[in-house]
Amino acid sequence: MPIRSSVASVNRASQHNRGGSFMERRNNMRLSCPHCGEFARIRKSQQLTPVYREATVECQNPDCGWRGKMALEMTQTLTFSQQPNPEIRLPMSPRLRDSIRDQLMVQ
Ligand SMILES: [Zn+2]
Repeated sequence: MPIRSSVASVNRASQHNRGGSFMERRNNMRLSCPHCGEFARIRKSQQLTPVYREATVECQNPDCGWRGKMALEMTQTLTFSQQPNPEIRLPMSPRLRDSIRDQLMVQ
């Protein structure tokens, strides 16, 4: 799908699906309560490892009142770091793995 039309469809989706979209206009993460779908806010978060962060999330709908925890985890490498930390071992994305394999086969 061309980039232009996918951006347009994201904008349409956020107009018709209030509170349901994951991304906010400013590109911050937009969180929805899993129960009522209203805006949920991160109250505090804690970096537990270099690739893992846990956050406490609070639904902003007073009629709902849900609170919970969520996790943010770095899961894959899409582009290698130019300042790699030897202790970080993230799996390559399938696309990155394929492109490296193709380069090795050419040589
Ligand atoms: Zn809620």
